[in-house]
Amino acid sequence: MHQLTLAEIARGLADKKFSSEELTKVLLARIAQLDPQLNSFISLTEDLALQQAKAADARRANGESGALLGAPIAHKDLFCTQGIRTSCGSKMLDNFKAPYDATVVAKLAAAGTVTLGKTNMDEFAMGSANESSYYGPVKNPWNLECVPGGSSGGSAAAVAARLLPAATATDTGGSIRQPAAFTNLTGLKPTYGRVSRWGMIAYASSLDQGGPLARTAEDCAILLQGMAGFDPQDSTSIDEPVPDYSAGLNGSLQGLRIGVPKEYFSAGLDPRIADLVMASVEELKKLGAVVKEISLPNMQHAIPAYYVIAPAEASSNLSRFDGVRFGYRCEDPKNLEDLYKRSRGEGFGPEVQRRIMVGAYALSAGYYDAYYLKAQKIRRLIKNDFMAAFNEVDIILGPTTPNPAWKLGAKNNDPVSEYLEDVYTITANLAGLPGLSMPAGFVDGLPVGVQLLAPYFQEGRLLNVAHQYQQNTDWHTRTPTGF
Ligand code: GLN
Repeated sequence: MHQLTLAEIARGLADKKFSSEELTKVLLARIAQLDPQLNSFISLTEDLALQQAKAADARRANGESGALLGAPIAHKDLFCTQGIRTSCGSKMLDNFKAPYDATVVAKLAAAGTVTLGKTNMDEFAMGSANESSYYGPVKNPWNLECVPGGSSGGSAAAVAARLLPAATATDTGGSIRQPAAFTNLTGLKPTYGRVSRWGMIAYASSLDQGGPLARTAEDCAILLQGMAGFDPQDSTSIDEPVPDYSAGLNGSLQGLRIGVPKEYFSAGLDPRIADLVMASVEELKKLGAVVKEISLPNMQHAIPAYYVIAPAEASSNLSRFDGVRFGYRCEDPKNLEDLYKRSRGEGFGPEVQRRIMVGAYALSAGYYDAYYLKAQKIRRLIKNDFMAAFNEVDIILGPTTPNPAWKLGAKNNDPVSEYLEDVYTITANLAGLPGLSMPAGFVDGLPVGVQLLAPYFQEGRLLNVAHQYQQNTDWHTRTPTGF
């Protein structure tokens, strides 16, 4: 039963092949048995899950239907869940029980999902390896010596290991797409403003966006449907109608114009990944797509711009964690200043402290124009490159990551080498565009992802292209040995 996708679960529940309660029990037992190898969960919510499963079964018995009614999922541990620990992967919030549900959590619960638990993540979503979590690193089910990607590594490892069919995640600079690539999943970062950020603990507010992680594009469509939509409580939420994503999956790709940026194939890209990217292009050509080389000339500036903007916003967002109102407070503070300093010094891990220092420096008087303002100007140039490209093509295709998953610990003493791994994903966040990563092959037994980018609010186009690709390839069906 654990092999079922969300779409298959919906059919099984509708046909009364099994109940949500039965399925939930199977998955909870599987998590108890297998998760100690992976460390993909920070908290399990068994009682809530069984209660929600029974309620979903009762709703179905009363004639209700819906693709998510009775579907087991988990939330990345930065979505606030009322009365349940919401740690953000940090000692700072280890004792924090959210007083309310994030909009995403509330919407999915109303659609009838069953919450199995809260998944592990890089501390405050800062990282690309899920090694900065206060709760320890997550292991990649494809190779337990490798990282699963980050920061949504817990969601990715759990779904890849078939502990559950899908999970929520967030993406500030790649944290949905990169772990999807590293664990053979499909992951979608929506357009900025498509999914409410209310109750999603902020890392870099102008970049953060929640989205689905699942095995197939079909399942991402189902989960995104439950997450997307205008939220008056989030001032950056956009009041655009949400299309029926599942209904759009079978559109023809005849004449679809795919742009492949020449800058993507620079020296840093593993040539074996480059080959798999081009193989995916050939596959899409067979389905009627036409391919064109394009250029994104300002891409080289994306990493420096991102690693100014994201820490700057983080340093501001994280100033609320001061030992007074939320979370960790140091023992026996001598005075107020000591309380602030030691609560923050003891509560935040080294990567978070590094980012706060970089961000505070970039925002400080005298440096603001040189760093933050300059980075915002680069951001506009990057957006303009995309706008020009989308005048010529319908989607942009390339690698999700320059390399496959690396060994645990390999980059621990070299944060910049980890930052460089985000080269293909962060441009979509800087521009606010939607992006999807889908499985496209293997290198040394490790999964490789191909990234698709589309114009604003064209999530449906990304899902359509990925679904058609998945109807004609079987990479996404491969299962890691032992799971
Ligand atoms: N790896 C990037 C960072 O560390 C992106 C993380 C994310 O998307 N949350 O900032």
